[in-house]
Amino acid sequence: MDVSPMDVKQVMRDYFVDLGEAAKDPGRKVAWCTSVGPAEILRAMGFAVYFPENHGALLGATRVSTDTIPIANAHGYSPEICSYLTSDIGACLKGVTPLSKAYGLDSVPRPDVLVYCTNQCKDVMHWFSWYARRWNVPLLGIHPPNHLPEVLPEHVADVAAQYRRMIGRLEAITGTLLDLEALRLAVARSREATDLWEAVLNTARARPAPLSFFDGVIVMGPIVVLRGTQAATDYYRALLAELQGKVVARQAAVPGERLRIYWEGMPVWGRLRHLSDLFANNRATVVASTYCNSWIFSDFDAAQPLDSMARAYLKIFINRDDAYKEAYIERLAGEFGIDGVVYHAARTCPNNSNSYYNLPQRLAARGIPGIVVDGDLCDLRCFSDEQSTTLIEAFLETL
Ligand code: SF4
Repeated sequence: MDVSPMDVKQVMRDYFVDLGEAAKDPGRKVAWCTSVGPAEILRAMGFAVYFPENHGALLGATRVSTDTIPIANAHGYSPEICSYLTSDIGACLKGVTPLSKAYGLDSVPRPDVLVYCTNQCKDVMHWFSWYARRWNVPLLGIHPPNHLPEVLPEHVADVAAQYRRMIGRLEAITGTLLDLEALRLAVARSREATDLWEAVLNTARARPAPLSFFDGVIVMGPIVVLRGTQAATDYYRALLAELQGKVVARQAAVPGERLRIYWEGMPVWGRLRHLSDLFANNRATVVASTYCNSWIFSDFDAAQPLDSMARAYLKIFINRDDAYKEAYIERLAGEFGIDGVVYHAARTCPNNSNSYYNLPQRLAARGIPGIVVDGDLCDLRCFSDEQSTTLIEAFLETL
C-alpha cells in the first residue's frame, strides 16, 4: 500500500497516545462508542472516545485473535457470534492488546461510560454489557428502528429523543451541560471529514483506480475513530489531493488493471495481504465496497445536529432492507464500472453478509455477476486460503 500522504500510522498513533494519556488523567473522561454510534455527542462533551470494533479489527489483522477467540468461547461466548466481540473479550481476559506493541499503551483505555447503538447489530449491546458488568461502568444504549425500507420523520424523532435522554445521563457523568455550539462544531467537522472520505473513495472511479479496497481499509482508520475532530478533516484533505494527483498521472493501485471488482461485506482482516496479492496477480482492482462506504454520512448538518445525526446513523446500509441494498450495489456497480461482485459471507457477522437472501442472484439477473466466498472478519478457522483462491481465480477468469 503506497497511499499515505501524512502517514495514516502517525494520525492513528497521535489518537492512541492521546487516549492512553486521557485514561491516566483524572481530569479527563473516556467513553467507549460503537463504530457508527453518536461519537459527535461524546466529542462535544469532552470525552476521549475509544472504539472497540477498531480494536477487534486490529486483533484480527495482527492475528492475535487466533489465540483470544477460544478464550471467549470457553467463557460462554459462542464461536457463532461476532468475532470482534470474541476476539476483544478474549484479549481482555488474557490481558493482551496489540495497542501495547503498536502505540505503547499498557492496556485498552478504561471507560467512564459505554455507549452503543444497535443500528448495526445487537452483538454490540452484548459486548458492551460484558464490560459494564466487569468494570461496573454505566452503559447507555441507543435502540433505533432496524432494517428500514426508508427513513421516516418518526424514526428520526425517535432516535433524536433517545439522544436527548442519553445526553442527560452523560451530563450527570461529566458534571457539565452539553454545549450546543460544541456539538454543532463536532457535527460540522464530521460532515467535512465524511465528504472528503467520500471524495477519496470516488477517486477509484478513475481508470486505472489509484486506490483499492485493500488500501481503503487501512486509510479509513481516521473516519472511524476521529469523526468530529479537525485531525480527520486534515488527513483526508491531504489524502484526496495525493489521490487526485495519482488520477492525473494515471498511477494505478494495480498496474495493468484489467478487471474492476466490488467487495461486499466485511474484510478478512487476517488475510488482507493474501487477498490483495491474489486480486493484483490477476490484474483485478477491488475499486468499491460496501464496507468503506459505510462511513459516508452525507446527512450531517450542523444547523440541526441531533436530528441530522439521527438521520445519518439510521440511513446506514446495514440498517436498511434488501431492496435498498440491491439498488445501492447496482448504483455503485454502474458508477465504478464494476465487472463483478465478491460477496463475503462472514460466518460470525450475518448482519454484514448479504448473500443469504438471494441478493447475488437478483443482481446477477440484472447483469452484475458475483460469487460468494465463505470466511470471517477475525476467525480464520472459517476461511480457507485454498478454496477462496480457487473460487476467486475461477471467477476472474470467467469475467
Ligand atoms: S456488525 Fe458484525 S462485525 Fe460489526 S459488531 Fe456487529 S456482528 Fe460484529
